[in-house]
Amino acid sequence: MREGGKRQGVSDADDPGFIHLREVVLMGDDMGQDFLGSLRALLIDLDGVMYRGDAPLAGALDAVPILDTLGIQHAFVTNNATQTPEQFQVKLAGMGVPVEARDVVTSSEATALYVRRVAGPGARLCIVGEDGLRQVMLQAGFVIDDEDAAVVVVGLDRHLTYQRLVAACQAIQRGARFVATNADRALPVEEGWWPGAGAIVAAIATTTGVQPTVIGKPEPTLLTVALERLGADLQHSAIVGDQVQADIRAGRAAGIGTILVASDPVGPDEPMPDLVVRDLADLLDRLRTARG
Ligand SMILES: [Mg+2]
Repeated sequence: MREGGKRQGVSDADDPGFIHLREVVLMGDDMGQDFLGSLRALLIDLDGVMYRGDAPLAGALDAVPILDTLGIQHAFVTNNATQTPEQFQVKLAGMGVPVEARDVVTSSEATALYVRRVAGPGARLCIVGEDGLRQVMLQAGFVIDDEDAAVVVVGLDRHLTYQRLVAACQAIQRGARFVATNADRALPVEEGWWPGAGAIVAAIATTTGVQPTVIGKPEPTLLTVALERLGADLQHSAIVGDQVQADIRAGRAAGIGTILVASDPVGPDEPMPDLVVRDLADLLDRLRTARG
């Protein structure tokens, strides 16, 4: 259930339908060189690829300088709508990874772009979400107005009250569009799972009978916005992520290459990534080899 990833209560060893990662890695070895050699842009997932919690993962500290040396453009993409790109910049800098805020594309920003397209600049919004989402929407020129909202924007809100759910449901019943930053069902925490944005979205969808437009992974919009910002073409771009259900599906939907960091097993009905690597450090080694 992690961001729509691993099946709860099923380990890969218990389920014969799971393809074991070691085999997939070996398949990737045969096919990977041309694919890696052709890459000009990488979209890199943050949680599970660059860091877990507050700890950087293997390769995270070297990624930016190595990609720069290889002439590979990059952007960091995250479904997390609770923080601004500037806050992610500070978090990464604290781990010794210097990035520009502009290099981080969150589902909030992709949501702002989408809302501007469908409802126009300056549209009135009812927002269920945390400060990061509110700030991005206000900076984008939208106006918060629960009573007269044209769009209800829903993201993860760890201070959610029943009254916020009421406001969102009423606005939708008055005809507002329903847009979700992401539909991650659960948040992985040390002691298990907390309700994710998807759980809040489900409460509103259940009440109103209206399904939202979802912006974040596994939908392609977040990746499309990041690619547009880089000016990258689909043919020479790929996403690096740790979750088949979110990252690999989104990459497929966006029409770019897909690279799985092997923490999530690939199930029988799930899309196979173009390449599976052990971690980001492994990918950087392979990119250097492929570039000679
Ligand atoms: Mg991830």
